[in-house]
Amino acid sequence: MPRPIQATIHHAALRHNLQRARRAAGDAKVWAVVKANAYGHGIERVFEALRGADGFALLDLAEAERVRALGWRGPILLLEGVFEPRDLELCSRLSLWHAVHCEAQIDWLAAHKTQQGHRVFLKLNSGMNRLGFAPASFRTAWMRLDSLPQVEEISLMTHFSDADGSKGIAAQMAAFDEATRDLPGERSVANSAATLRHAESPGVRGDWVRPGIAVYGGAPDHPGFNAAHWELQPAMTLASRVIGLQDLLPGDSVGYGSSFVADTPMRIGVVACGYADGYPRHCGTGTPVLVDGVRTRLVGRVSMDMVTVDLTPVPQATLGSAVTLWGQAGNGTVLPIDEVAHAAGTVGYELMCALAPRVPVVVA
Ligand code: PLP
Repeated sequence: MPRPIQATIHHAALRHNLQRARRAAGDAKVWAVVKANAYGHGIERVFEALRGADGFALLDLAEAERVRALGWRGPILLLEGVFEPRDLELCSRLSLWHAVHCEAQIDWLAAHKTQQGHRVFLKLNSGMNRLGFAPASFRTAWMRLDSLPQVEEISLMTHFSDADGSKGIAAQMAAFDEATRDLPGERSVANSAATLRHAESPGVRGDWVRPGIAVYGGAPDHPGFNAAHWELQPAMTLASRVIGLQDLLPGDSVGYGSSFVADTPMRIGVVACGYADGYPRHCGTGTPVLVDGVRTRLVGRVSMDMVTVDLTPVPQATLGSAVTLWGQAGNGTVLPIDEVAHAAGTVGYELMCALAPRVPVVVA
């Protein structure tokens, strides 16, 4: 009998979420963002459910090769472009679209001998100050690209720093509109938060949207626990079972550091899931968890292979009871990954991406 922990990737949820993003996107095409191994879900595991997307956006050539190996002939976009000149060769061979965010990438293209025209997304730094050309140099970069025989098509993109937060997108959208005014080419600006929260703002949908977290059922606002508000469904469930029971008396403590001390008699369940499975160690007493679909809380510290949970709200719980660390319980109750992430001071993205390799994953 293997250790009873398992992650499930829900195809129905992925399909639903993609449709939801598509609905918000209106007539725009949808890049399903599958970087970081599909946000930890596994590119190969999500592919069938997401093949209704218009394209896949990701980060590196190895991931692009995996998507091509699955038989995908449509568009694939390298969101950060190539990392060195020789990458352009494989980029051509795999027919990838690629971002161009700095002069060096234009130099590499200019020096690249190719029969096949490159399709590029010229990236504007509209205020995030991560990747992209400054507004003042954007047009010069565009003209340089336009003069290269290696370049077949130039599209235009930027990335928002606060589409999920209170600052919003207005200033960056204005910078993008100004820098790209009169330039031909398709446009892409919106991540999940912009697609869902700011869909009505002019220009946000553009020609392509780029939802990532929404596709996986994570909340597109911050702090956002309520993916359900956006009609999103969790695409990943992390589930385990109760493997031990302890009856505590007042004054008894639980786990390393004795951080939780019972003040009344109570029963706790020991669950086969710890930080070596990707469950965040920073989750402490009070972090929500479902036992037999009933909401209760973690007590004490997360250890490498176990967590301990308060069984007071679930008196019928016993050895083998089902535990949902995040995602969908058997009775349909949902525990948003964002809530667990918040308890650990992080975001759902990180938990998805950090699912440990030792956790068996099934696709449902
Ligand atoms: N576009 C770019 C350039 C990104 O870097 C990302 C992710 O960080 C996305 C789109 C998708 O963002 P989200 O997962 O918030 O939808």
